[in-house]
Amino acid sequence: MAGGGDKVDYVFKVVLIGDSAVGKSQILARFARNEFSLDSKATIGVEFQTRTLVIEHKSVKAQIWDTAGQERYRAVTSAYYRGALGALLVYDITKRQSFDHIPRWLDELRGHADKNIVIMLVGNKSDLEEERAVSTEDAKEFAEKENLFFLETSALQATNVENAFQTVLTEIFKIHS
Ligand code: GDP
Ligand code: MG
Repeated sequence: MAGGGDKVDYVFKVVLIGDSAVGKSQILARFARNEFSLDSKATIGVEFQTRTLVIEHKSVKAQIWDTAGQERYRAVTSAYYRGALGALLVYDITKRQSFDHIPRWLDELRGHADKNIVIMLVGNKSDLEEERAVSTEDAKEFAEKENLFFLETSALQATNVENAFQTVLTEIFKIHS
């Protein structure tokens, strides 16, 4: 891109949080590179990936942070949350426990992040309808009560991943532009 004169008007940091194995890294792979892997290894190393998109004629660089397997040890550090303007709070629709842990993640997020943070509750793996353990209604109700956006996604089928990030980034844009 050198010499392309690419101008970035805004950089927005968005964090991915939620239990291990809910699909955070694959959601990010889908959004950042349009890739998906069924045997993804636990994330190591990489702190964030970026993708630049246009919102209302402005160039917005989304900097999406992925936990490096820290979720297992409840060891997500405050540096991870620092400066985040948006969050995808992810559970797996086939794993009830991952949904039951959402209030805990939300507390942690609200304790660390910007008070205007835009939060999207994401029920991932919507392609596994026959294994569903969390109803759409339960999640919707929780999201309304907590003032969160809500979508069910499939990183595998690329369903609603784009929509989830677009919604969060557009909302951040409205607040911060
Ligand atoms: P993370 O620990 O939250 O980052 O989860 P990963 O992204 O590593 O995904 C955990 C497992 O779930 C991997 O085997 C993925 O291939 C799988 N996975 C992720 N997203 C989906 C999805 O939308 N549908 C299905 N069926 N599997 C998925
Ligand atoms: Mg991961």
